[in-house]
Amino acid sequence: MDKLKQKEFTLASLTDLTSPSSSSLSSSPVLFKLGPLQFVCVSDKDNSLSRGVVIMFRDDKESKDFSDSFGEWTKDAVKKGSGLPNGTVSDSTSKFDNKIEAASAKMYFHYYGQLLHQQNMLQDYVRTGRPLCIGTYHAAVMENRSDFSGRVVVDVGAGSGILSMFAALAGAKHVYAVEASEMADYARKLIAGNPLLAERITVIKGKIEDVELPEKADVLISEPMGTLLVNERMLETYVIARDRFLSPNGKMFPTVGRIHMAPFADEFLFIEMANKALFWQQQNYYGVDLTPLYGSAHQGYFSQPVVDAFDPRLLIAPSMFHVIDFTKMKEEQFYEIDVPLKFTASVCTRVHGLACWFDVLFDGSTVQRWFTTAPGAPTTHWYQIRCVLSQPIHVMAGQEITGRLHLVAHSAQSCTINLTLSAKMWRPGASQGGILQTSSCKLDLKEPYYRMSQPQVYPVAQEPPAQPQDLQIQSEDLEEVELLQQNANAQL
Ligand code: SAH
Repeated sequence: MDKLKQKEFTLASLTDLTSPSSSSLSSSPVLFKLGPLQFVCVSDKDNSLSRGVVIMFRDDKESKDFSDSFGEWTKDAVKKGSGLPNGTVSDSTSKFDNKIEAASAKMYFHYYGQLLHQQNMLQDYVRTGRPLCIGTYHAAVMENRSDFSGRVVVDVGAGSGILSMFAALAGAKHVYAVEASEMADYARKLIAGNPLLAERITVIKGKIEDVELPEKADVLISEPMGTLLVNERMLETYVIARDRFLSPNGKMFPTVGRIHMAPFADEFLFIEMANKALFWQQQNYYGVDLTPLYGSAHQGYFSQPVVDAFDPRLLIAPSMFHVIDFTKMKEEQFYEIDVPLKFTASVCTRVHGLACWFDVLFDGSTVQRWFTTAPGAPTTHWYQIRCVLSQPIHVMAGQEITGRLHLVAHSAQSCTINLTLSAKMWRPGASQGGILQTSSCKLDLKEPYYRMSQPQVYPVAQEPPAQPQDLQIQSEDLEEVELLQQNANAQL
């Protein structure tokens, strides 16, 4: 602070956010710009925030001079090795920057910086809310007013600021709306246009991993879910926010998430995917043989998780789920998620892969509300995802299907999906224990195949479930696929 002391600034106001008994503002203070003339200066003690002061300047020049001088002083402090404690903003790279590629983060925040993408989420009425219609976030906040009324709330990844405004509407004492993308500027504008709420909301532009807040929160509200729950790796940001900002008995909205999984049979989808690569089977494409790349193209298509809304009748076994408790999960536990799979097939069929969706629980004190993205439930902008095996497996009704879903987070804010499904097969000549068929695939959740616009040709009438005595492994199925492939080839 030495350098700062030597300069004098004309203030419009100075508001101490903390109790007079708090320590002085001398230990490693951090400065945040709340508006053109307003800053909040926070100091910490033993890694817990102890003091915050809101500083208001009279004009832009004073405000800029002050932030420049503060910046100079901070750099000096870092250089001198006085060191900023963990969690404060410094010149060094942050927890976020250390694990996420800069190019990915740039594209990601550019995407969320655009109003059209925020609008897409706002128009997901199942998610957000609409008058006279149950929108989960709106309902979850309004039904649980007692959790928000008079409380300090942090909106983790505020986007347009909609959840901050819901929290303010529910009577929050103050909401800190933290948003890393340029959307923070729009959120400020939107919130300013709602003056009754604006006085209780502070928008802070920055990453959750880097920003400091002047006080601890009673409640975190966030919408950090990606496809398969974990895509975008924002759940990690959510639990970092918990560890950094939430009071010990604070609430999290949402509280718990579950990844649901079930094997499916969908011959149409399988053929469609297999057919895409057939282009590369041409031996005479303007005189060029394309076949050397057929295998790679085929593999490429089958490494894309399919995103669409499918008919739940395609599921061939009761689903199972894997729980992710946002209040307990450590950030590092998201790096690798391993789910052992076990299902019992309800019908005799060819299994084409694993279908996944998620739900989250808002564990309010008054009402517990689940939000689901399940097939058959009202469709959300997440749809469902399906991991398609390039080698389907055969099952009979009552037969056990085992396997493993292994999700490994990567630095492009997504994850690699490793899927294995196995089932025993009794073909003529098989020994007593049967032959174990195993099929595996590796997919990149960052490269989904959005299939929503495709026509979906599913029979409308519900067929009665097959009886075990009717069951026969249709070994000609594979030949059928080959036939279809040949036909498609002939059409090229
Ligand atoms: N809460 C809004 C937006 C949800 S989308 C709504 O419900 O409509 C998630 C938002 O979180 C995006 O705007 C994204 O830019 C922001 N975000 C993602 N990671 C972040 C991080 N590490 N720090 C701050 N904001 C982040």
